[in-house]
Amino acid sequence: MSLDIPGEELKSECPLDGKCSWKFKFNSAFNSYGLPVYECGSCGLQSVHPKKNIDYDTLYGKEYYSGEADFSYKDERKTEKFDSYVWDARLRNIKKYKKSGNFLDVGSSFGGFLNRAKIEGFNPYGIEISKYSSGHANQSGIPTFQGNFLDSNYPENFFDVITLIEVIEHLEQPKEVFRKLSSILKKDGLLVLQTADFEGLQARKAGPNYHYYLPGHLYYYSLSNLKSILSKNGFSRFIPYFGVDFPLSAKLLKSRGNFKNLKDYLKWFTISLYHFKSKIRIKDTRLTSSLVLYAFK
Ligand SMILES: [Zn+2]
Repeated sequence: MSLDIPGEELKSECPLDGKCSWKFKFNSAFNSYGLPVYECGSCGLQSVHPKKNIDYDTLYGKEYYSGEADFSYKDERKTEKFDSYVWDARLRNIKKYKKSGNFLDVGSSFGGFLNRAKIEGFNPYGIEISKYSSGHANQSGIPTFQGNFLDSNYPENFFDVITLIEVIEHLEQPKEVFRKLSSILKKDGLLVLQTADFEGLQARKAGPNYHYYLPGHLYYYSLSNLKSILSKNGFSRFIPYFGVDFPLSAKLLKSRGNFKNLKDYLKWFTISLYHFKSKIRIKDTRLTSSLVLYAFK
């Protein structure tokens, strides 16, 4: 199998057992990253190809957390108090289904979310590719495996809850990733996935300009292909949340973490508008592309 033929290479990684038929879609236009995007004609899964060799130590190093890289993730230690509104609200929702047990967060960063889960009575486990943030998490008492999800080593049927918040789109070898997620989760365990829904009108309308086409984002999913992939891997019950799985109030309280002056409170309008828009569905069409999917094995 030649690695120069995108169709063949993508087929070998396809989480739907190679059934996807890949075609070049476009070069993304957001921020002129120009990522070459392929799409499956039958399930709509999208993938960047080729995936450049990523130097994770550089990509997810100090700049990633300091806001110095333009696709950076902020350093959550500076806004922990505000982020906790969202973390706690999400945990309240998770606890409707799982009250305690082993809790894995993939892409656990500095361990802030897991720390709240620990306070709520879960046994926290983290996986984090960044040496910088995983080191901090381990020092503060959140056991965190530093490395790639597929290189982690947990027993089968071990976790009650696994969360991937804006992480699944970063992971290579999705076929193996979904298989492993299923195998380490207990029967009736809960998997929480937050990612963009490429069936949503927001993504479809924006096309190549959609802001989710970012370096490091390798696969672009939708509610329906996620359900197909998860069903193939032994998941049987799904609860989709359009927008997020917690109330607007938590989002508004969290946003204050980035506010610098009174004028910033005007952003509450935009945030609220987006929140309500994300709840609107016309037949099967969702107006935004924000999605959180709860899947039970
Ligand atoms: Zn497909």
